[in-house]
Amino acid sequence: MAELFYDDDADLSIIQQRKVAVIGYGSQGHAHALNLRDSGVDVRVGLREGSASVAKAEDEGLRVLPVAEAVAEADVVVILAPDQVQRHLYRDEIAPNLKDGAALVFGHGFNIRFGYIKPEADHDVLMVAPKGPGHLVRREYVDGRGVPVIVAVEQDASGSAWDVALSYAKAIGGLRAAGIKTTFTEETETDLFGEQAVLCGGASQLVQYGFEVLTEAGYQPEVAYFEVLHELKLIVDLMVEGGIAKQRWSVSDTAEYGDYVSGPRVIDPHVKENMKAVLADIQSGAFAERFIADQDAGAPEFKALRAKGEQHPIEATGRELRKMFAWIKPADSDYTEGSAA
Ligand code: NDP
Ligand code: MG
Ligand code: MG
Repeated sequence: MAELFYDDDADLSIIQQRKVAVIGYGSQGHAHALNLRDSGVDVRVGLREGSASVAKAEDEGLRVLPVAEAVAEADVVVILAPDQVQRHLYRDEIAPNLKDGAALVFGHGFNIRFGYIKPEADHDVLMVAPKGPGHLVRREYVDGRGVPVIVAVEQDASGSAWDVALSYAKAIGGLRAAGIKTTFTEETETDLFGEQAVLCGGASQLVQYGFEVLTEAGYQPEVAYFEVLHELKLIVDLMVEGGIAKQRWSVSDTAEYGDYVSGPRVIDPHVKENMKAVLADIQSGAFAERFIADQDAGAPEFKALRAKGEQHPIEATGRELRKMFAWIKPADSDYTEGSAA
């Protein structure tokens, strides 16, 4: 059984006694910075010059500094810029200004696991990774709850790295839900696998194929959209509440029987073999290398794939249909329909 931590296992005063710099003010950065601030932590935000994020952080009353200055002040530096820029940022702005013995906190293990960032031996290297998007991390905290976090220590230079990690996890609200102990290697490899094989890659491809099969067979795209995309959320909500078993309990017997006989026809054992190949590329570093090489070249492959995805007919159908759904609000995100391409 995994080791779990809750609020009572952590001492909030540890992080309250440190100066914390949050680098980046995006999805995770804004949530960490605001939750830390509201937990009584001395926090400053580090951003590059001319950053569009400066105004957002200042509007919330946060102190914003250039990355180098924020780092120079801090006992704890939280690196929440995008994974692909972290190693440049670390080399140019963070490492040269890092106080002796300062702790480094990550929200995902990518750069440590694949060796793109190699901190010197006198720094604690921690991870507190919320298992949910940043906007939920903030909303849950404000509502008195939290998003579960996974916590890891890669390097314990001070001998008290775990105490700092748990204190930090408590300050962002994560231990109101639960903290799960892991390692950088386990978090990185399982996180990448989950998003590639199931959550993002697998689910997106499954929905697109379902939509294509129905519309190519002559069914109306609007009806296909409801059947293969819209209802997915209702099914997943049931799974989250009570596992696959609760989903099967809630749907009709017809649907449950169809699940048993047709699920394994669609997702057949080849798919499991494909998933193993995806995992092997993650473990070997081949995926990381491909991602970083593309990013360093200006992301031509990434941008082309994003544009192609936006052009799938299910997106146009969904854009029109969702205008009719008064109950689906854009909520508290900066995302606007069609903005990704
Ligand atoms: P975002 O893409 O939302 O971060 C963008 C922020 O980083 C912006 O404030 C941006 O500022 C800043 N930034 C970008 N480039 C630079 C730079 N060169 N120098 C300084 N600041 C820069 O990142 P996420 O929040 O998605 O991810 C952050 C980390 O959290 C990653 O390690 C990710 O894997 C992890 N994570 C993310 C989750 C999520 O919910 N998205 C979930 C769990 C973990 P500007 O305005 O200047 O562009
Ligand atoms: Mg991830
Ligand atoms: Mg149905």
